[in-house]
This record gives sequence, C-alpha cells and structure tokens, in this order.
Amino acid sequence: MSHAITVTNLCVYYNSTPTINDLSFSIPTGHTYALTGHNGSGKTTLLKALLGINSNIKGDITLLDHPITSLPYKHIGYIPQHVSARGAIPATALEVVKSGTLTRTSLFHYHRRSTSAKARELLKKVELEDKMNEHVQTFSGGQMQRVSIARALMKDIDLLILDEPLNGIDVHSRTILYNILENLKKQGCTIVCVLHDMTPLANLIDNVIELDHGSISFHGPYSSYTGTTTTNHHEPYETTQMIRHHAPTLTGVHR
Ligand code: ADP
Repeated sequence: MSHAITVTNLCVYYNSTPTINDLSFSIPTGHTYALTGHNGSGKTTLLKALLGINSNIKGDITLLDHPITSLPYKHIGYIPQHVSARGAIPATALEVVKSGTLTRTSLFHYHRRSTSAKARELLKKVELEDKMNEHVQTFSGGQMQRVSIARALMKDIDLLILDEPLNGIDVHSRTILYNILENLKKQGCTIVCVLHDMTPLANLIDNVIELDHGSISFHGPYSSYTGTTTTNHHEPYETTQMIRHHAPTLTGVHR
C-alpha cells in the first residue's frame, strides 16, 4: 500500500522542549483522516511541520513520495484555520481563486484564459458565481471558506489538508464543503482534516489520529474511536442529516 504521508520520529520545536514529541505514523493514499485532540495538543503545529511551514524539526517527513525539502506543492492543497479577508489587500473572489495557480516560477498562468475559465467554474461549484467580481472583504466566514476551497482546487491536488474547516461557517457552506470533500475522496485524493467535532464529516472519515500533549493517544479506525473530542457513531448528527438531505449534486470537481 502506498502512503501519501509518512512521518518518522518527528519532533517539532518552538523552544528547547519539543511541542511535537517523537511522532511516527503513516497515512495511506486515498484515505480520509481526522486529526483531533484538545486545544494545545499540537494539531496545527503538526500540520505546519507537514507543510514545511515550521522548519524547526527533527525526524523525517515524506509527502506524496517527496521529502520535506522538495515538497510537490502543486499537488498539495491547504486550507488554514480562520481564513479572513478583513484587512487584506482588496481582491475580488475571482482574483483570489485565480491566485491558487501562482507559484514562484509560474506567474504567467494567472493571466491565462484557461485559468480564468477554471476559476469561474470553481466559483460556480461553490455557488459564488454571482459574487465573483465582488471584493472578498465583504464576504461572510462561510463565503470566504468557499473561496478558499475553490482556490485550493485550482491545482491538481492529490493531498488536501484542512485546519478546522467547519469552524464558524453556515450550514449551506458546510454542505458545499461536504460535497466537495466527498467528490475528492471518490477521486482518490488523500484528505487530512483537523476537527474537534468529527460528526458532521462522519461519513467521510476512515481513520482518526488523536494528539495529546504532542504525542499520539489514538490512531485507528473512526468506528473504534471513543475519545474525548466530540463524535457520535450511533445516531446521525443533525448537521450530518442536514448536509446529506440538502446536498446539491456537485459532480466533476476538477482536479
Ligand atoms: P492545537 O492546534 O492542537 O490547538 P497548537 O499546535 O496550536 O495546538 O499548539 C501546541 C502548543 O504549541 C501549545 O502549547 C501552543 O501554545 C504552542 N505554540 C503554538 N504556536 C506557537 C508559537 N508560534 N510559538 C510558541 N509556542 C507555540
């Protein structure tokens, strides 16, 4: 079985004491993982290490068969926590989504006609077609999250990493996010999602890693997880029911 993520003896430091302490795990290609644990347990620190944002690390990380020193960013999507446009440089939704193709070496992609067409199509999929020329500074948290998802999908991603994507967003935006994740999963994309409450995405999650003080306190199937963060295997949570009941058909998310 191939692995999208392999972590071996990882320690991450902000000071002399490791915040992440000697973690080893691997995530098989195509699986959906929830990363959970109490506040301060090290979830965001781990994500940042995986993405090469926090470089004060020891140990080995491999993503999509590449070492941390040469990550294939064009195949990795990242949706950070609390994406807010307030105070940012004025930009329309279309401009923000198009910027998902920008890399240090491919500025010209931004101006391609095909880039604009893809960005418009993705904004349509996240139901922001009528707002594509509006400045994102005026968007709600849910609308901004939809822009972030569309931006991430501008790349041909094989791995999507999300940090608390459901926080502070409305049910309609949750529904759209759920459908996009479901499509990506069907297409074989590996998904790693930091979640406190896993129940709204219960039907998508294969496995759970729970962190406690920077160490793994649980790693196994979602169905076996009985941890302290919110989850409910037996009764469909109201939000999940709403998501499934009202889910519009979003077919063919382009990767
Ligand atoms: P979680 O995402 O699980 O809430 P974090 O990874 O944000 O946890 O934080 C883990 C620990 O690292 C916490 O004790 C936090 O205070 C500390 N920490 C996080 N970011 C920094 C930073 N930039 N500098 C110093 N300590 C930090």
